[in-house]
Amino acid sequence: MEPLFLIVEDDSKIRNFIKFSLKSHQYKCLETSTGKAALNILSTEPVTTIILDLGLPDMDGLEIIKQVRTFSDIPIIVVSARDQDTEKVEALDAGADDYLSKPFSIKELLARIRVVLRHTCALKNDGLSVYNLADLEIDLARHKVTLKGKEIHFTPIEFKVITLLLKNYGKVLTHNFILKEVWGSSIGNDVQSLRVFMANIRRKIEENPAEPRYIITEVGVGYRFADE
Ligand code: CA
Repeated sequence: MEPLFLIVEDDSKIRNFIKFSLKSHQYKCLETSTGKAALNILSTEPVTTIILDLGLPDMDGLEIIKQVRTFSDIPIIVVSARDQDTEKVEALDAGADDYLSKPFSIKELLARIRVVLRHTCALKNDGLSVYNLADLEIDLARHKVTLKGKEIHFTPIEFKVITLLLKNYGKVLTHNFILKEVWGSSIGNDVQSLRVFMANIRRKIEENPAEPRYIITEVGVGYRFADE
């Protein structure tokens, strides 16, 4: 299916910027400035990705994410102010796929779009069990991780964490999401223990854990596995 983007943004400058960026890459798009119109378009047009501003004049963007998730799992990229970490986390936990912080560059926009398009394709084409990224190789079927050809030992939990990040590479995952997927909901919001696990994993795979190559920290939000 050909990608069709829906831009929902009431700031016309940002809307035009996104539109021209998409069009310059031959992506088709529709646009609107209100939540109600967005939901209308979604019920009639074959939209494949939504780029959504959270602060709309008639509706809270968060409400739109929740409504869309009742009938569709199409990718939603949220556009948010840079200092609104709580807002980003809420949007991601409500079902958004990723976010862009204002102001953002064409490069950032296209990087986020590449990731959602790739994950949309990957769903139809899974079964991939060996991932390679730079010096790192992870074999999911054999539970084996090698760095520069040398095998690295992971505890079962560490392996679960890295597998989750890897399966979503390029995409931001919130602390809550990782905790829920790896430990189930019982651990609650124990972000501190997650940090400890991440530090251990980084010590094993990162040449310089202070400037991670593979596991990127999204401050106040979560983690992202590098995609290139
Ligand atoms: Ca706005």
